[in-house]
Amino acid sequence: MNLIKQIEEITDKCISCGFCESVCPTLEPDGYNSVFGARGRVILADFALKESSEGLELGNSFYSCLDCYACVNVCPAGVNAGVVSELMRELVASGNRGTKNPVAEMIKTSIMKYGNPLGLKEESAEWADGIKFDDSSTMLITGQMYQMMPYTRKINKVRKYIDENLTINIASAMIRHISLIKFSRHFYNKQLRDKMNGDLKNIVSMLQKSGVKFNYLGAEEPYPGMFLHELGYAKEFKEYAETVYNLLKEKGVKRIIAIDPHTYDIFKNVYPEVVKGFKIPVVYYTDLLDLEYRKFNGNITVQEPCHIVLHNNNFKAIDILNSVAEIKLPERSGKSTMCCGGPDELLFPDTAKKVSMKRYKDLKAKSDNVITICPLCYNNLAYDENVMDFSEFMGSLMVKK
Ligand code: SF4
Ligand code: SF4
Repeated sequence: MNLIKQIEEITDKCISCGFCESVCPTLEPDGYNSVFGARGRVILADFALKESSEGLELGNSFYSCLDCYACVNVCPAGVNAGVVSELMRELVASGNRGTKNPVAEMIKTSIMKYGNPLGLKEESAEWADGIKFDDSSTMLITGQMYQMMPYTRKINKVRKYIDENLTINIASAMIRHISLIKFSRHFYNKQLRDKMNGDLKNIVSMLQKSGVKFNYLGAEEPYPGMFLHELGYAKEFKEYAETVYNLLKEKGVKRIIAIDPHTYDIFKNVYPEVVKGFKIPVVYYTDLLDLEYRKFNGNITVQEPCHIVLHNNNFKAIDILNSVAEIKLPERSGKSTMCCGGPDELLFPDTAKKVSMKRYKDLKAKSDNVITICPLCYNNLAYDENVMDFSEFMGSLMVKK
């Protein structure tokens, strides 16, 4: 089915009730401008396809969608405004409607040329210096998400001081001179990098102590291409994902251990659909943990990641947390969990910040100790030192055997 028909098939079901607006995290931060909410996105897509897209600012509406899928859980007609946004981004990215976003174009160009959104390579593997891995066909694929957070945080700090038009101009210039993106390797938050490297080491340690045998590709590890997929570059993503699959086959990878929700989701649900013959099983690291922990003295609250809980119905990490501490969940939890705002960080940092601050306050109202299970969630919610990644928190409770 062609893209336009696919979108219309979804938007035609909308009865315009507006229930989805009550859960869409991007509506309020954008001043209740309806095109930045779930219903507005569905109506805008429908109008742009059936009437006219002339003069409509399509890109920002669909690019700012977080793909959290909170909307479909409350929609009486089963409409997923997140999927509508994904397909509309594909339409924009293919040049068929609207204007391409220069920051998205810059990221795409960097991934296609350097295999990483920020042109990073060796930097992504430094955390593993000195760690001994097994000679195994089970591969730890970090997705380079923990490693990229210190860079995105620093870049956004710089962006705060320049105006949006200048950002767009810089991004446009960098598309033509993409090697400049490699300068981003000099812009990182050192404290966050040390913390993220510590989390990665904790994950490895917990898996190894659970008796799991696995290897790691180091600087050869491929970035799985989440941004290409999420920003709508379907053609480029397919081409890129095929090269990733070829590399994994060449390295004899028979099973993937993912350690962040975005990498897990893309290998589990997107690669099998897009890459012919892709059948490598993927498991989330928390599903493999088999350890003894001591009890935590106090209560906690948890930021449940959309790509684990909403997209994959996986609650194993929550079960583990439940076994060591009293969990006080915020009103929006489980199948109605709320996104941390992370996916908007590179394109819409202001929206990301407002979404994350709202979520942080909701969580803090329940407990001072906030546990995240995703590096993006951590990066966006870590407004104080009592916000901890699952690996840091559980690593500290591990009973030494
Ligand atoms: S909840 Fe569903 S039917 Fe109602 S406005 Fe949103 S997308 Fe349309
Ligand atoms: S996927 Fe999330 S951000 Fe996107 S429209 Fe639905 S609720 Fe809003």
